[in-house]
Amino acid sequence: MASIINGKEIGQQIRQSIADRVVKLKEQGVTAGLAVILVGDNPASQTYVRNKQKSCEAIGIYSELIKLPEETKEEELLEHIKTLNNRQDIHGILVQLPLPKHINEDNVIATISPDKDVDGFSPISVGKMMLGQDTFLPCTPFGVMKLLEFSGVELAGKHAVIVGRSHIVGKPMGQLLLQKDATVTYTHSKTKDLPSFTKQADILIAAVGRANFITSEHVKPDAVVIDVGINRDENNKLVGDVDFTDVEPIASHITPVPGGVGPMTITMLLYNTVQSAENTLQQDK
Ligand code: NDP
Repeated sequence: MASIINGKEIGQQIRQSIADRVVKLKEQGVTAGLAVILVGDNPASQTYVRNKQKSCEAIGIYSELIKLPEETKEEELLEHIKTLNNRQDIHGILVQLPLPKHINEDNVIATISPDKDVDGFSPISVGKMMLGQDTFLPCTPFGVMKLLEFSGVELAGKHAVIVGRSHIVGKPMGQLLLQKDATVTYTHSKTKDLPSFTKQADILIAAVGRANFITSEHVKPDAVVIDVGINRDENNKLVGDVDFTDVEPIASHITPVPGGVGPMTITMLLYNTVQSAENTLQQDK
């Protein structure tokens, strides 16, 4: 039986410490502020944005939603970002992805000031992360690192295998594990004989986007299994990339879906926003 890594509980503990930092900032006259830009009416994006705003409000971070119509021109969106870059009351800027097809996401992300890039997606943030420099780390892999840390999982010298190489999850995940001295293997859709790699993992990270894709056939006994996936199965039930029922009996630790990695992503967004507000206070001194 695996030990269940409870992301809800760990996320709550971290949120409490962030709330304490929000109070300290307020005592020094600063209210941490996050601006979220939502373009269009994508229902999933609307839900994500609502959750982010609610989480901000719950711990005293000011949140501002800039809602723009689907037909917004790229230039207009960039102007909004530039205005936010210059606002002193906004410490974090997040543009909810995906954007409508006529807008170039790379241009948009690159326009966010690196000092306010709390999603950690801009080329400067990514470059700094690669170099191990101080920067905002992308929230989902950062959240996974916190789950591993809070669960006391040793990383140095361990073999971490990542399934998935997206810019927002897989790639940065491997970098963060490498920085903690894990030996990292990336796998993806062109990998031949996937189980031959995943079976070697002491720490297996699934970020594939396919319901119940990882089964016991992919997992070495006593591996730590982290499931980043959020999918709907054939019964419209929320499930991860890992077949939990099949894998849980052989893993040493495992994250459930929901209640594993999911709650950590917003937690780390709050963390980065407060960090940014603290940074500005430091610069003003
Ligand atoms: P992407 O679709 O961007 O990337 C999926 C990755 O999986 C790609 O690198 C792809 O390979 C790889 N892949 C696809 N099929 C296979 C296969 N058969 N064998 C091996 N690798 C495969 O997804 P994301 O990284 O954005 O998200 C992954 C999952 O995590 C999704 O379920 C998403 O909903 C969830 N997610 C959860 C978050 C959270 O807060 N918990 C936050 C972000 C994402 P290739 O590059 O070759 O195409």
